[in-house]
Amino acid sequence: MLRHSEFHRSHRIGWLRAAVLGANDGIVSTASLIIGIAAAHASHGTILLTGVAGLVSGAMSMAAGEYVSVSSQSDTETADLARERLELATDQESELKELAGIYIARGLTPDLAQQVAVQFTAHDALGAHARDELGISEIMNARPVQAALASAVTFAVGAALPLLVAYIVPTPNTVLYVGIMSLAFLALLGGLAAKAGGANMWKGTARVAFWGALAMTATAAVGSLFGVVAA
Ligand SMILES: [Zn+2]
Repeated sequence: MLRHSEFHRSHRIGWLRAAVLGANDGIVSTASLIIGIAAAHASHGTILLTGVAGLVSGAMSMAAGEYVSVSSQSDTETADLARERLELATDQESELKELAGIYIARGLTPDLAQQVAVQFTAHDALGAHARDELGISEIMNARPVQAALASAVTFAVGAALPLLVAYIVPTPNTVLYVGIMSLAFLALLGGLAAKAGGANMWKGTARVAFWGALAMTATAAVGSLFGVVAA
């Protein structure tokens, strides 16, 4: 089989998006939690406890959310395929016409479209309809457990970064160091993700750093407000 030399990145979409989302979320939510608590003048122990609680609860909710959303996608795909299988078994003629119609819409002449539809149907009718009619391809095949695990692990790794910084630096500097280091982690992640996906690195970096800074500033403000009120 001839292999062309072009280099595509679409096979990275699925797990890349989940991984970046998880790690990004881990950094932003845990750093914001730590900064909010530290801004309220909490003790070092309380800051670390909050960070660990944020890591565990965040990882579990990411896993649960990803599992539920990917499972429902998988359920939809399975139901669509079952309906397609039934239609192929009960009404081959209009299914063939439908497939040829899809190829005509994609620019083939009616004769060629008919030929292609006939050959694809003979080779793997369900596969052809799944791919060309329903848009279900091997790449997008839902794997709920894999997606849930990937999200939980990447969230936990992301969350561990600001937590580690909070553990190392003395309490009076927690807000500053966790803020700066978390922005650095976010910028690095955003740039790497953009590069891996073939997109503009600076845009990717600026995007996550901006939203991260916004989230941490908001929680720092709330935390210091509570710190004043509670004192
Ligand atoms: Zn069909």
